[in-house]
Amino acid sequence: MEWVAIVAVLAAVAAASVASVAWRDSLRTAQQWEERALAAEAIGREQQLDALEDRRVRDLTLSTMREGLLLVGSDAHVAFANDAIGRHLPSTPATLDAVLPFALRSGIEDSRERGQPNSVLVETGVPTRWLRCTITPAADGATLVVVRDVTQQRRLDSVRRDFVANASHELKTPAASIQAAAETLRHAVEDDPQAVPRFATQLEREAIRLSRIVADLLDLSRLESGSSLDDLVSLGAATREEAQRLEEAARDAGVVLEIETSQERPIRGSQKDLALLVRNLVDNAIRYSHEGDEVRVEISCEDDVVTLRVSDTGIGIPSKDIPRVFERFYRVDRARSRETGGTGLGLAIVKHVVENHGGTMEVNSELGRGTMFEIRFPAEPSSSATVGQPV
Ligand code: ADP
Repeated sequence: MEWVAIVAVLAAVAAASVASVAWRDSLRTAQQWEERALAAEAIGREQQLDALEDRRVRDLTLSTMREGLLLVGSDAHVAFANDAIGRHLPSTPATLDAVLPFALRSGIEDSRERGQPNSVLVETGVPTRWLRCTITPAADGATLVVVRDVTQQRRLDSVRRDFVANASHELKTPAASIQAAAETLRHAVEDDPQAVPRFATQLEREAIRLSRIVADLLDLSRLESGSSLDDLVSLGAATREEAQRLEEAARDAGVVLEIETSQERPIRGSQKDLALLVRNLVDNAIRYSHEGDEVRVEISCEDDVVTLRVSDTGIGIPSKDIPRVFERFYRVDRARSRETGGTGLGLAIVKHVVENHGGTMEVNSELGRGTMFEIRFPAEPSSSATVGQPV
């Protein structure tokens, strides 16, 4: 009886312990499930957030793009248009039928009909803007249109084309003169020996003109890629040096050349390019003055600004021409420019040097009374100007 009771108690204890293990296991499983569910929910939320973030990034990217994007669905309704479309096209269309300009609409229709990509260049607005539109059909019958404003690029292309045409023309003239003078010289050696020095001088003059144009073109092309800003330059010293070189030309022209440099600060830039700027301005002032006129070059410094002023009492520039004199090959009086050895590139060079050095420029001129070019450069801060760099 005792044994039976003991066995029963043991069995009960064993059953209870089995039950407690099962309960513990089931509890652990439930916990795991819950953890898993929570993890899944967290992942789901993270994915949602990722999707939201992706959409936010995508929307931001598309809305800040410079190119216009237009997605026309297979039903000819516009499924998507970014902000730039509204800027490039006359309006943001809701359907293909509303796409303007017309040339773009027919370009899209053509691409959809043929199932082939298409590219059209369209003109729109006042002032005229040029749009390059790339049309790509998608597999589901939709069409993606990318619109790029290429107005500036076309303008630059046209400036470049004009420049090449002008430069070729400018080079052709002295080249033809050299050829003619050389031929005449060859005949003169036999037929008219006395005329030989005259033709030789003419030949030399045209050759010098040709090489001046080439030198100025090379300077311009170098300046277009910027100036090295490695030197600390004294504009006063550069001016005195250039004035010395031009003294003879001034004397020959009967022009008085005055230089005045008050206390000045150095500027950071290219010694060579700043000297070129001074040379061109002073050379012009002498060439466009009459005998007895005066050319003054003043350099001063105030409020961290170094000012170069080149003034003359010469022929002056008509006010309508002032905005154009910095254009390449633009001359007010072509004959006078040629006679005095001009290339039509001097002021274009000056403009580039000023821009490369962060300067500003002003021109004042009165016909028959004279011209003044005033150029301002930022002075080098005093502390760095004294750190062992000779000026
Ligand atoms: P150029 O080699 O013909 O002198 P620039 O580019 O130096 O070419 O100048 C362009 C034009 O601006 C000149 O042809 C001239 O008509 C005018 N010009 C420039 N500087 C002066 C000046 N100091 N006085 C009058 N006209 C000037």
